[in-house]
Amino acid sequence: MEDCIFCKIIKGDIPSELVYSDEFVVAIRDIHPVAPVHVLILPRKHFANLSELAETDSGELGSILAAVARAAKKIAELEGIADKGYRLINNCGQDAGQTVMHLHFHLIGGKTLGEKLI
Ligand code: 5GP
Ligand code: ZN
Repeated sequence: MEDCIFCKIIKGDIPSELVYSDEFVVAIRDIHPVAPVHVLILPRKHFANLSELAETDSGELGSILAAVARAAKKIAELEGIADKGYRLINNCGQDAGQTVMHLHFHLIGGKTLGEKLI
């Protein structure tokens, strides 16, 4: 996706602070952190959001979601918050407040997260 900011970050065309990467995902620090730890986990392959990912075959879907879960665990360890815990958030679509149309998961932690909606 030529005009996708996260695709450009994944390609290295736009700078970012890399936290973790593997075959399936790249994880970078959010430019506007809402917590001491705020990392974005970006699947390398472009999907607009979780609903678009859901349309792919189960093999690819499973591989990407497994990679996200494993990356989240690894990032929590790297950031020193594995014991205290973290929240993994996906905003899908307009009402959820999604602003970048490249599937991503916010990993936030490093403090007691008080703003629980559910
Ligand atoms: P959304 O609102 O779509 O769930 O989350 C998009 C996130 O991407 C926001 O938290 C925003 O701060 C972050 N973001 C937007 N542009 C950039 C960028 O160029 N670099 C980084 N590191 N984060 C970005
Ligand atoms: Zn993209």
